[in-house]
Amino acid sequence: MNTIVAIVGRPNVGKSTLFNRLIQRREAIVDSVSGVTRDRHYGKSEWNGKQFSVIDTGGYAVGSDDIFEEEIRKQVQLAIEEADIIVFVTDVTEGITPMDTEVANLLRKVKKPVFLTVNKVDNAMREDDAYEFYNLGLGDYHTISSINGSGTGDLLDEIVKLIPEEEEVAADELPRFAVVGRPNAGKSSFINALIGEERNIVTNIAGTTRDSIDTKYNRFGFDFNLVDTAGIRRKSKVKEDLEFYSVMRAVRAIEYCDVAILVIDATRSFEGQDQNIFWLAEKNKKGIVILINKWDLVEKETNTVKEYEAMVRREIAPFTDVPIIFISTITKQRIFKAIETAVAVFENRKKRISTSKLNETMLEIVQNYPPPALKGKFVKIKYCMQLPTPTPQFVFFCNLPQYVKDPYKRFVENKMREIYNFNGVPIVIYFRQK
Ligand code: GDP
Ligand code: GDP
Repeated sequence: MNTIVAIVGRPNVGKSTLFNRLIQRREAIVDSVSGVTRDRHYGKSEWNGKQFSVIDTGGYAVGSDDIFEEEIRKQVQLAIEEADIIVFVTDVTEGITPMDTEVANLLRKVKKPVFLTVNKVDNAMREDDAYEFYNLGLGDYHTISSINGSGTGDLLDEIVKLIPEEEEVAADELPRFAVVGRPNAGKSSFINALIGEERNIVTNIAGTTRDSIDTKYNRFGFDFNLVDTAGIRRKSKVKEDLEFYSVMRAVRAIEYCDVAILVIDATRSFEGQDQNIFWLAEKNKKGIVILINKWDLVEKETNTVKEYEAMVRREIAPFTDVPIIFISTITKQRIFKAIETAVAVFENRKKRISTSKLNETMLEIVQNYPPPALKGKFVKIKYCMQLPTPTPQFVFFCNLPQYVKDPYKRFVENKMREIYNFNGVPIVIYFRQK
């Protein structure tokens, strides 16, 4: 189970600066493959060998000034509900503002660990100015400078002390599916159509000490676990129109699943929020199935399916080798097909290809179509193997790995997809010196 750390606070205190520091800017702002600028407020961090996810709640703030306060209150509320650890950021140069007090009041009632941080303490002089933050009633605070990094190491030390050592996830071989998507896309309807009535529940295993729950089902001849979180079950008081809301909900479910079933509302186009959830699954190297739901509502002409599908593939590029299924939870059209496909994706993700087989097929291809020579030098690929990782990753050994560029890596990836069928599964290909 991955620990989720949420960064909260009013605007301009330095949340996104801290976020970037915590994830060590490993996230490219511009996607190198598609060239698209993507706004990311979710990332992975590692400190002292412990991994966790970080969410910058402020990144999702929207709206005009008058609803601004309300938005922030909602975001803090959600962070409280969904995150494991909360980092509350304040700004020493401005002192305590009424909004800080309000956020502190919300956080004081919380049973989860809250780290009060006083940011912009760039020099020793400002240390003294930080004393007033005791008045927030949240106990001791950490002084940090997100810009120059001072204090952030100590903060991370304290945060990771609360993160348990990686526990092996129960070696249950059943697929774990998470049904994710925007509010009103039809997730609950899909789940209901899928599982029918409660009596189909075989067992109900409380996951870990945290909120996640696997519920085991047997339907249409398939055994699988549906990954749910307390958060998904509980209807929150908070309105669901926030992008942040669905992302927050999706994060944990996705991290805990094998295959993410992304439900899209066919009557709307594929939007930023869908893209963000897709990207979350891709980034976590989970299997993905896209369901275009409410297909019963769409006026169909000869090419409607093709066109819709092409539109979705443009939006999810470059990772387009993903099953897209048109369903209706009302007429139950292709519900079976959806689950069958999710099981197939689960199998694809577990696929292991022996080194001898891999070299037999792939070496011939890469030797017939070698990477283009660079500065008169030729890249020679000698052999390849699959790494013993939970998701498919492959390494190709060659003399000059630094000369192998992205287009060639994509060529190799596409060949592997053609030959081995990794439909729905993000795969990684490395070139290494040998
Ligand atoms: P957010 O709205 O809370 O995400 O705040 P940002 O991270 O966008 O930061 C707001 C402003 O404060 C930016 O101009 C940052 O450069 C600045 N800032 C952030 N952290 C620090 C810091 O530690 N010291 C100083 N002096 N400025 C900072
Ligand atoms: P969720 O917020 O993603 O869980 O969405 P719901 O399952 O609550 O569905 C939102 C609305 O869409 C409800 O009014 C459903 O009845 C409706 N809906 C869901 N699936 C379909 C479908 O396949 N066809 C039609 N016509 N309506 C649907």
